[in-house]
Amino acid sequence: MDGEQTPLRCSHECHCVEMFVDDGVESVTSVEQVSGGADYCSILTRLSFTFRPTLLREQHYQYLKKGLRHLSDAYECLDASRPWLCFWILHSLELLEEAIAPAVASDVCQFLLSCQSPTGGFAGGPGQHAHLAPTYAAVNALCIIGTEEAYNVIDREKLLDFLWSVKQPDGSFRMHIGGEVDVRSAYCAASVASLTNILTPKLFEDTTNWILSCQNWEGGLSGVPGLEAHGGYTFCGTAALVILGKEHMLDIKALLRWVVSRQMRFEGGFQGRCNKLVDGCYSFWQAGLLPLLHRALFKEGESELSRQRWMFEQQALQEYILLCCQNPTGGLLDKPGKSRDFYHTCYCLSGLSIAQHFGNMELHHEMILGSEENRLAPTHPVYNICPEKVARALQHFHRLSVSEAGRPARSAEHQS
Ligand SMILES: [Zn+2]
Repeated sequence: MDGEQTPLRCSHECHCVEMFVDDGVESVTSVEQVSGGADYCSILTRLSFTFRPTLLREQHYQYLKKGLRHLSDAYECLDASRPWLCFWILHSLELLEEAIAPAVASDVCQFLLSCQSPTGGFAGGPGQHAHLAPTYAAVNALCIIGTEEAYNVIDREKLLDFLWSVKQPDGSFRMHIGGEVDVRSAYCAASVASLTNILTPKLFEDTTNWILSCQNWEGGLSGVPGLEAHGGYTFCGTAALVILGKEHMLDIKALLRWVVSRQMRFEGGFQGRCNKLVDGCYSFWQAGLLPLLHRALFKEGESELSRQRWMFEQQALQEYILLCCQNPTGGLLDKPGKSRDFYHTCYCLSGLSIAQHFGNMELHHEMILGSEENRLAPTHPVYNICPEKVARALQHFHRLSVSEAGRPARSAEHQS
């Protein structure tokens, strides 16, 4: 493996040259950056000389398995995000290639069924209002399970009603009826609609232009037009455009420049925005953009593209995740000193998978840092579930019809 032959980047003498310089301008973040940088320096130096970077598979598995059945009081604040917990845990398990027991999978299906709103879409918990974020999480979780029982949970007719109920005249979507508009909603809507085969041009009319208006002078995308570029929103907007087949309408080169500049020179992980601290979850939100951009440039006929590597430092990201983001008792985290949680576990592992696997089904090149035991399953860069689960869901739902008759009349703007 490439990774085993290559010495660790962070053990090079010249690595400390990459430490943060505040250019004489002190801010809250720059102070944290300097003290955090010194911490990472000692962690990286200590770990890189004493250990080979090792994925703590068994510990993560135990942590995830327990989370599927029992959550501590600390998760009370996520009572409106329960389908998310299902997705974060199930996706982490599929990346680790750990099977889900049929009885557990069936229980998750029944739980998600209880989160489905009578008017369509999924809510954050039983009896709550439908919301696009848990709808995305629930559909992804059900596609990971991938059984007839799982697919049959989704009421596609009502899901389409729900999507129309949050669609806005300018092409954007609200997160829920009466809720906020931002680019996450366009991605959640496009993701669930495409997976379940209810995507129609009419439903996404003007959505492309609305998303494009979120790309700002930095090159990345903001949550709504006119704000600061941000990793999570940039991923959502770009992935939504990929689903809609319109990613070429972005300024791809400006976006590429912005995202590669978000990989931290010293830490190796990504920051979410310019001048922010590194955070493990951006290992997916930012690094996950590189496969999308690679594909977009390939389609445009760009001749200089590598056929072996994404356009970011894949080894440095793997070092950051494996050396700095693992809790020794299982679970992954934002940065050293922070506590583990299922969100960071999911997105650190997703980013690690992106950094390990280049290519797609036809062309594939692996770069696994450390031993082969560190290898995760590949993830689909648009949906962030394993590619064969995407293929199976598409195959299943494409047998079912999509009907659009009368839908626009029920949209939010006509109701209010
Ligand atoms: Zn984070």
